[in-house]
Amino acid sequence: MKKHAIIPIFISHRGCPNDCVFCNQKKITAREGDVTPDDVRSTIDQWLTTLDEVETVEVSFYGGSFTGIPMDQQTAFLEIAKDYKDRGLIDMIHLSTRPDYIDREILDNLKAHSVDVIELGVQSFSDEVLMLSGRGHDASCVYRACDLIKSYGFTLGIQLMIGLPGDSRETCRMSALETVKIHPAIARIYPTVTIRDTELYRMMERGEYQPLPLEEAVQRAKEMYLILEGNGINVIRVGLKASEIMEDQIGFHPAFRQLMESEIARDSMEAQLAAMSYAGEPLSLLVRANSRSFGNIYGHKGMNRDHFQKKYPRLRLKGALDESLKDGEYILTPEADLL
Ligand code: SF4
Repeated sequence: MKKHAIIPIFISHRGCPNDCVFCNQKKITAREGDVTPDDVRSTIDQWLTTLDEVETVEVSFYGGSFTGIPMDQQTAFLEIAKDYKDRGLIDMIHLSTRPDYIDREILDNLKAHSVDVIELGVQSFSDEVLMLSGRGHDASCVYRACDLIKSYGFTLGIQLMIGLPGDSRETCRMSALETVKIHPAIARIYPTVTIRDTELYRMMERGEYQPLPLEEAVQRAKEMYLILEGNGINVIRVGLKASEIMEDQIGFHPAFRQLMESEIARDSMEAQLAAMSYAGEPLSLLVRANSRSFGNIYGHKGMNRDHFQKKYPRLRLKGALDESLKDGEYILTPEADLL
């Protein structure tokens, strides 16, 4: 049985007064195509016909700034979601918004409509990165919003971005560490993509911004992921889905998370080989992992297999399933030990 299903409802923030340099939503100005409360109802109905065998169903309003739209529109959408929740047809209501669109009036309304999860597009805890990215708020606003959300008892999520203007390994690490202090239940890590017709694209054309090379983005994501997961924060997403991407973008890799997880697996195997004082002699080892992490042993497109073959031609690594292990756990065992 599938555990968790998400019914996604995209609420664009038309007339958004902000100027985030990476944003491509501001181009959207026509009224046609706006989601109406009736659309929300029919979307939920349609999805529910396909979700018989699911343990929990969540309606998720995404698009970035749900609480930035006028209060009466928020209420119109939320009333519908609450109606489905009250009737036991869905289990959770989830939305994403900006830190500066959080205050008591907004949260009172969300609470009254049984919202469960609020995700904040924080992007960075560096004031300089926030300023250079045109976010329109500073990090102190993030702390305030997070405190308030937690004080109401909502489940908090934090979204962070890698590779914005002014960003560095240090600011990425700092953002992950600050996130740990706030300790949201969930987090997402997105590498910045540079989309045509955005200010970021123009900055790139003017030579004021350099998109992060993929390898560097993977390294930063890995470090942030390990900090967050290592401190009990569930990183529910790393990288964008292909369906979230438009044409003309730079910096998108469809298997970004797998690249990162493959590197984590490689680091773990390297560390265990070092602990065994392995020096290149002929050796056969099993690498155990659960079924969700198994593919990372060999890595995206066999990158780890190639790496070890090149580095240690006389080492033979064989993957073995072990469902008793946690996600992301890789255990090297001499083959003979298991016989
Ligand atoms: S990303 Fe920034 S500019 Fe774009 S809609 Fe969201 S808040 Fe507005």
